[in-house]
Amino acid sequence: QSRSQIAILGSGRVGKSSILQQYLNGGFSNSYKETVEDIYPQPYDINGKRRFVDYMDTAGNIYFPAMRKIYISKAEGFILVYSICDSRSFEEVQKLWNEIKSVRENNLSIPCVIVGNKLDEENKRQVETFAALEWAYRENLGGCFIEVSAKDNNAVKEVFDMLLEQLGNRRAAQ
Ligand code: GDP
Ligand code: MG
Repeated sequence: QSRSQIAILGSGRVGKSSILQQYLNGGFSNSYKETVEDIYPQPYDINGKRRFVDYMDTAGNIYFPAMRKIYISKAEGFILVYSICDSRSFEEVQKLWNEIKSVRENNLSIPCVIVGNKLDEENKRQVETFAALEWAYRENLGGCFIEVSAKDNNAVKEVFDMLLEQLGNRRAAQ
């Protein structure tokens, strides 16, 4: 049996836990509950074989460089989340990706999805779609970029479909 660990990374309060909860359980809560560190094992089927993905919902401890390094080196893939209403959270995603590239060789083959959350708050937008997309394309992540709303359950499933597809391709290539 093989397990893939997927780290969900990003600034605090961008909606990492909300996206994961919406995907796994359905539903959304407006109240904020700080994550400690939660691991959610999920089965998925690829090429007729059952495999497991462990989604790691990370918390504030990723602000410690040593913790971040551990997550980055042990994860097989990443979901990097920012809020479209918070340009600093987008800068954090860029920083995280640079760090991932520096820790891992052959970054073209790292399963990764870039997620702009809180699409329902268009009126508070700070990160333009074209600017985020432009950066993503420059980093060869153009096909791995998506804007979502955990609140409205808009495009949340696509995040995980994109990630599992990349994981599957990687396995097929191995
Ligand atoms: P985390 O710290 O990244 O895990 O963020 P949370 O999932 O705990 O969410 C932080 C806050 O943002 C909570 O109050 C959520 O209700 C809210 N939130 C999360 N996703 C969305 C969204 O898509 N739209 C809106 N409007 N609020 C959201
Ligand atoms: Mg959280």
